[in-house]
Amino acid sequence: MKIEFRKIPQTSSDFDIVSDSVKFSGIFSKISTKLVELDSKLEGKLQVQCCRCGKDMDIGLSEENKFLLSDGIYKDENEDERIVIEIDEGIVDFDTILQSEINAYQSDFYICGECENDTQELEIEY
Ligand SMILES: [Zn+2]
Repeated sequence: MKIEFRKIPQTSSDFDIVSDSVKFSGIFSKISTKLVELDSKLEGKLQVQCCRCGKDMDIGLSEENKFLLSDGIYKDENEDERIVIEIDEGIVDFDTILQSEINAYQSDFYICGECENDTQELEIEY
């Protein structure tokens, strides 16, 4: 789902996209000529790999994030609790935002149930 930055209305609009079993939804609105506010929710299941045995496993996602989309370079130096994303070429691409969220999760370290049990056994032995 792509939207031209300049066409985003000041009134809140809904969005709802799905990639595999991850749902990315929420509302967005333009708060200034160069800024769009995006309140999002990430839900569903994501396949990740155990960092010890490499086995695939699913993790449950349930996260709310507030983003600030900036048309071009974000210059405001005020501290902001929102995650700033700089948009290129005046196009907001929700799929790219979702994909970068998924990539961030997948680059984290996970340990599957079996490896977790192994660790506990080792701790008892030594
Ligand atoms: Zn494992």
